[in-house]
Amino acid sequence: MQRQNILGYTLPQLEQAMQAIGEKPYRGRQLHKWLYLSRQYDFSLMTDFTKELRSRLAELYQVAPLELEYSAKSKDGTEKFLFRLNDGRPVETVLIPDDDRRTLCISSQSGCPLACSFCATGTLGLLRNLTAGEIVGQLMYVRDKYGDDAFTNVVFMGMGEPLHNYDTVLEAVGIMTNPLGLKVSARKITISTSGVTPKIKKLADSGTKTRLALSLHAATQVKRAKIMPVAETFGLTKLMEAVRYYAETTEQRVTFEYILFDGFNDTMDDVRALAELVRGIPCKINILAYNEVPGLSFKRPSDEKVDWFGRMLFPRTPAVTVRKSRGRDIDAACGQLAARKMT
Ligand code: SF4
Repeated sequence: MQRQNILGYTLPQLEQAMQAIGEKPYRGRQLHKWLYLSRQYDFSLMTDFTKELRSRLAELYQVAPLELEYSAKSKDGTEKFLFRLNDGRPVETVLIPDDDRRTLCISSQSGCPLACSFCATGTLGLLRNLTAGEIVGQLMYVRDKYGDDAFTNVVFMGMGEPLHNYDTVLEAVGIMTNPLGLKVSARKITISTSGVTPKIKKLADSGTKTRLALSLHAATQVKRAKIMPVAETFGLTKLMEAVRYYAETTEQRVTFEYILFDGFNDTMDDVRALAELVRGIPCKINILAYNEVPGLSFKRPSDEKVDWFGRMLFPRTPAVTVRKSRGRDIDAACGQLAARKMT
């Protein structure tokens, strides 16, 4: 019999699994602590279980953490991990240190169906949705390597569109935030979407305390549709209504991600359009220079242009951060490493 991988089971699922073998539900809580708090992957070392229970668990289940295929560390400290899933699909995770923040950028899918024209992951297409265990496994790998303080915040900005794997992503968030486990504060987790309008509203109504980021990258419908095919399905007007709804319902500030592409979205007209678009929404805008991807036509703007854009935007919008590109020497742009390894 194939043993199920128990990594990725939520607390209620662990309680049910214990009940199914005649144990009390509190055993599920103990197992949750072993797996996610102590990161103990060997049933035989779970010392508060009877010998019989340990052997029964080992008969039925395995604990299979993610397997690293490759990692690389940039001169600026950014570290990229490429994992190979049990069916051979790739998944990328990036750890980005920046002053006192250490951001862990995780994936929700292997590949991505949305085919944004500037993105290496988009060239792979959707390979498959990740399971909750494979999402949480990315955090666990990094904690196994660097300890409990390995990261300060988590962003779903790696491979994939998290809102296309909605239920599983929320399940994974439940595991990440459980005080009997990984104990990541929901406010330190950002779900970043390319703009799946109905799911933004659903997320707003779900009661989750996670943050929302929208990958905007262009401030008009025409321009956005040129680089993000998802914009043809979910137009900008309705999308912004959903973002407004999210901000009002959750009383949270939303982050807009705006990658600057040389000669595409970096003029004074773009500044004005962007400021107009977000007017009245409690928000922060992250400006980021494009990390060039070999084979794709987009170019990175000069550092001066990036600074200029940020300066022009700031008095017109409430909060602007200009983020340096990180890990340029290690193919840290989303999907770059996996795409390169598959060619
Ligand atoms: S930018 Fe994000 S949504 Fe677009 S193809 Fe890449 S991974 Fe998918």
